[in-house]
Amino acid sequence: MSPSAWYDLFLFVLLFALYVYVFVTVRITNLHKVYFLFHGLMMIWPFCQFAIDLTGNLSLQWFYVTLSFVAVSLLGSGWLLLTYFLTGETDRLRNRKRKTVFLFVPAVIGATGVVLNPWNWFVTPLGGGYAERSYGPWFWVILAILVSYFLASLSVLFGALRSSRTLPAIKKQVVFTLWGLFVLASFAGLDALLNVVFRPWLPIIPGLTSLGIFLSGLFFVYVIKKYNVFDLVSIAHEDVINTIPHGILVLDENETIVEVNKALRSFMDMNVGDTFDLDAFLESVRAEGKVREFAEHYKRKENILSQIEIIVERDFVRRFILQSSPIVDSRLVPIGHILTFQDVSQERYLVEELNRQNIVLQERNHSLDRISSELSKANQKLEELVVTDSLTDSYNRRYLTQQLTHEVITNMQYRIPFSMILFDIDFFKGINDKHGHVIGDEVLHRMALIVKQSIRSTDILARYGGEEFMIYLPHAGSNLAKQVAERVRLSVERNPMALGEDEEPVSITVSMGILSVEDFQTVQVPDSPEGFLVQLFAAVDKALYQAKHNGRNRVEFAELKWIAAGDGSSETEVS
Ligand code: GH3
Ligand code: MG
Ligand code: MG
Repeated sequence: MSPSAWYDLFLFVLLFALYVYVFVTVRITNLHKVYFLFHGLMMIWPFCQFAIDLTGNLSLQWFYVTLSFVAVSLLGSGWLLLTYFLTGETDRLRNRKRKTVFLFVPAVIGATGVVLNPWNWFVTPLGGGYAERSYGPWFWVILAILVSYFLASLSVLFGALRSSRTLPAIKKQVVFTLWGLFVLASFAGLDALLNVVFRPWLPIIPGLTSLGIFLSGLFFVYVIKKYNVFDLVSIAHEDVINTIPHGILVLDENETIVEVNKALRSFMDMNVGDTFDLDAFLESVRAEGKVREFAEHYKRKENILSQIEIIVERDFVRRFILQSSPIVDSRLVPIGHILTFQDVSQERYLVEELNRQNIVLQERNHSLDRISSELSKANQKLEELVVTDSLTDSYNRRYLTQQLTHEVITNMQYRIPFSMILFDIDFFKGINDKHGHVIGDEVLHRMALIVKQSIRSTDILARYGGEEFMIYLPHAGSNLAKQVAERVRLSVERNPMALGEDEEPVSITVSMGILSVEDFQTVQVPDSPEGFLVQLFAAVDKALYQAKHNGRNRVEFAELKWIAAGDGSSETEVS
């Protein structure tokens, strides 16, 4: 052989190595890889048969015979592998990687025997070449290996056909594959029978196995095209359906299950080919929501999406949202149903937990509310205590001053008339002396009650000091003030107080000074409310003094001649 021939062979080997490298590393699916390998092996046989006949060179012929039988030896294992892929049984291979390697052992043993051909056990050239040859026992070993592979793949195929888990589309493709296998086996068997067994008696009929290989190859291409075996979208679709966490159930028009995805199989015992009975199913679970409406929509195959919630109690308790919608063809005719099961156990649990927490929070809120209202009551009480005189239950002087400081200024600004009455019990020292201090206190208490009954609710009765009281009368001019004062004076006078069984009722009288601010011509708005108030108190005190002076148990008016802005130089005059 010329050196250039070796050079070409070297280049071929390099290119082939590159081809293998690309083939192994490229990102196509394993199914693609297995198929191309298988297809490559199939192509070798007819090519080698052609090459044997073409060359007279003995060693080349030996090479082609060896190559074609190596390919045939490996074809069986490739075929079995492809069957696993076609039937969707690849999961099994993935889980048992070590065992998968053993799948190739018989094929490799067969091929090794072919290459080594010890003592011509495999093949002997006849007539000085391999174009005609006689086969030894190793040929039958290879054939036996091949037949075993075919039988194994047949069992995988029939197993897939029988299994209820196999999808209908896969079943169809399995049937076609079986046909391909049948064609290949028939032609190979015929070849072995006619050209090997009956060789002494019959002329060689060439190309039988090649034809079988070609025809079965045609079947594969047909299956691959028709069922989109290599179609990425359908592979992805299948993948999505089986990796999605929701259960998916597809039914045909006769309620026969045509697809159950992995998720659904993990929690429900449903198989392809079973009949799905919605009513029986709904009875086997707890259903919530508009169950009857759901069942009716389902039966009427109305083109609406309806849903209910179901609680499945098996070895586990899970909640699902069950949705149903009809599958319609292009003319909107219903041809089946799709049911999806969305596991919402976790969400529902969280909502329930949230509700529980909410209830706890509400209870805490309630008790907080209670505490806060108790607190505010206590506060109110405290505030009352701060502004109340405990002996007479009327307001104390601090409150009176506070209130009047605001009110009087507002009254002045908006020219709202107001009055104040200062009164003092006549000869109270004498009551103390005669009945004792305790009775004196009681008299103060009773008198305050009597006074309260004679004034308006908006009027303020405050203990001004000792046995002196002030009544503030908002929105009251001198006339009204006089009326009130007289009313109070009379009711005190006319209500002797029975204070003990042995004691005589105590009669008291009061003397009163009235101050009314109603003529705003003479009074200016003061700068300092406190100073102004002091002037008013002084004025009304003068009037009270006048009442005492004029004989007691009577009412006198303080007359405001003029009051300047509260700079201390202001003056009031009392008539
Ligand atoms: P008049 O006012 O008519 O001039 O004579 P009076 O005897 O009432 O004289 P004055 O108003 O000056 O006397 C006040 C007395 O009131 C002095 C004090 O003993 C008595 N007093 C003041 N506060 C209380 C009190 O809280 N309880 C009792 N029991 N007596 C009080
Ligand atoms: Mg007094
Ligand atoms: Mg007095």
